This record gives sequence, C-alpha cells and structure tokens, in this order.
Amino acid sequence: VKVFLTGGSGFIAAHVLNILIEHGFEVVTTVRSKEKGDKILEAYPNLSKDKLSYVIVEDIAKEGAFDEALKSGPAFDYVIHTASPFHYNFTDPVKEILDPAINGTTGILKAIKSYVPSVKRVVITSSFAAITHAPNHLKLYDESVWNPVTYEEATKDNKFTTYRASKTFAERAAWEFVEKEKPNFDLATINPPFVFGPVIGYLNSLDNLNTSNQLITDFALGKKKDDTKPTESVQWVDVRDVALAHVKAIEVAEAGGKRFFTTAGFLTNKDLVDTIRETQPKYASNLPTYENVGEVSYPFDYDNSRVRNVLGVQFKSIKESVGDTLASLVKVGFSH
Ligand code: NDP
Repeated sequence: VKVFLTGGSGFIAAHVLNILIEHGFEVVTTVRSKEKGDKILEAYPNLSKDKLSYVIVEDIAKEGAFDEALKSGPAFDYVIHTASPFHYNFTDPVKEILDPAINGTTGILKAIKSYVPSVKRVVITSSFAAITHAPNHLKLYDESVWNPVTYEEATKDNKFTTYRASKTFAERAAWEFVEKEKPNFDLATINPPFVFGPVIGYLNSLDNLNTSNQLITDFALGKKKDDTKPTESVQWVDVRDVALAHVKAIEVAEAGGKRFFTTAGFLTNKDLVDTIRETQPKYASNLPTYENVGEVSYPFDYDNSRVRNVLGVQFKSIKESVGDTLASLVKVGFSH
C-alpha cells in the first residue's frame, strides 16, 4: 500500500514516517533539499527504493508544485499532507505563511484529482489553530468548532493570528474542495494543539528546533525563570500520538470525512516545571520556584473522545512526553 507524505523532514512528519514504515506502508516523501532527503534514507538503511524514496518539492506555495512528483510517482493509495510553515520569523504574512499554507493545500488536492485517480483518502495536518476562538474562548471545543478569523485580520501585524489563520483557511479550502469537486478521495484532518515530544535525531540540530518544543527548552534554559504564572496553561499533545492519529486516519475506514481534535488536555507551567525537575534534575536551577499555586482553573473544556473512539489513539502523559523530549534534545547536544 503506497503513501505520498509531504514535508517528511518536519518534526511531526518524521514520526509519521516512522509509524508508516512500522505498519508496512511504502512511502514516497517530499523534502526541500537533497541533503534532507538523503538523511532520511540513511536513517532506514535496510529499506529498498520501493519501500522508501523521496522527491524534492522546494516550495509548496508555487502553482503546480506537486504536479511533477505526483505524475511521475506510483499509483498512490493515500496522501498525508503535513508540510506548512510553522514559525514566527517572517516579515510578509501573505508570501511566507498564508500562501504556502493555502496554496500548498489546494495545489496538492488539485494535483491528486488530476493525476492520481488511485488515491482513496487524503489526511491533512491542520491544527487546533483552526478551531480556537482565542483570546475569546468558547466554553467547549470539539471538532464542530471553527476559528472565526477573517483574511483581513490575518494580514495585520499579529503573527500568532497570521499563523492560526493560515491553518484555518487551508483546512477550510480542503473541505470546500472535496465538497465542490467530488474527487476520487475523501478527507480527514488532524487538529493538534501544541505538539511536544522527542525530536528525531537524524534530522535535528539545536539551531533548527521546531517551534512547539521551544516552550520546554525556554524553561530548561532559564529564559522563563522570572515572568511566568504557574497556573497559565496550554493545550498539548505528544508528537507520537499525533503521528499515530495520522496513520490511523488512513487505516480506519470511518475516519473519512472527519476532523480529529488530537489533544491530551491542559499542561500548566507548573506541570512543565515539575516534570523537568523530576525527569532532568540538572536543569533545576534554571526553573522558576512557584509557591502557593492554589486551585487551577482552566479557560475552557475540550472533548477529545472522537480521537479515542474512532482512531483508538490513547494519549501519553505529561511526564513521559516532556521527559522524552528533553532526553532527545540532550542527545542532539542541548545543554544548560
Ligand atoms: P516543522 O517546521 O518541523 O515542519 C514543517 C514542514 O513543512 C517542514 O518539513 C518544512 O520543510 C515544510 N515546509 C514549510 N514551508 C514550506 C514550503 N513553503 N515549501 C515546502 N515545504 C515547506 O513543524 P511541525 O512538524 O511542527 O509542523 C508540521 C505541521 O503540523 C504543520 O502543518 C503545522 O502547521 C502543523 N501543526 C504543528 C503543531 C505543533 O505544535 N508543532 C501544532 C498544530 C499543527 P523544511 O524543514 O525544509 O523547512
């Protein structure tokens, strides 16, 4: 069974690739450079070219970016589209964030419809960003909720809004495409909040850490020693659970036509600090000391039952996730 995976060098995608291979799929992945592609192949020395190969797609924002790769590939059964910019060091919100997210998504769907009639399902990495109403939170979030952001708001000067909007518009465009074009495939989206978890050593160095793990490294490095509130929280999930959800979304028939809010729940600054102190005590002196935390009240409720019931994914604990994250970073040279 053949899968086309975009952005295989990414933090989440590297774990998706791992699980696809474990589950016996044959994978062609896209990367932006030969160097990254070769690193991926080197990490799986026992796999033949039929089982794992890569193609270069330098910029997903470009018209027809995926055409060549899909035309010349085998008869894929599934496509998993993860590639999308996730960082805040941009100056042009349209060119650097919105266009690649939105055009990358519509572009790949058009190309599949035109050139790969064998594809049965497309799974897209969306985000909690496409659900949340932050900062004016609703009482409860589940898969029925959509971020109400407008394109005008997206292009103003709040970088978080721009990123969230890029995920919202890209996901909307995907559902609209399927609805209007009635293509050969159905769609499932994975909507994770903050993703923590181990980095895959062969791809990472300390100067290109993915955006979401930076919350953990900032604490470990003492950057958040003085100005954080212990009860402030984020919704989070472990990268291995998110990756498994992507693969289950192609394996489970009933996943078609559904969004999946893959969240493990809330993690407070205190949870994070306590876990770092317990699992990697050498960072203890960099951590804030929180006193008299009292009762924690969370800003909203969430429902992750669809992920557990339909995909059968269980969520890892904070301790396992944060502990493994730091351990993986120490392996690639992170110190304090
Ligand atoms: P990474 O930055 O590690 O991965 C992003 C991937 O997209 C990389 O492979 C990157 O290539 C590729 N990419 C970005 N822009 C382009 C472009 N213009 N053309 C071609 N490829 C591009 O981040 P994550 O793994 O965290 O993110 C993966 C997906 O998950 C994204 O869609 C993101 O929005 C989503 N997500 C992430 C969350 C998180 O907390 N991490 C939470 C919710 C959703 P390269 O490495 O060469 O730059």
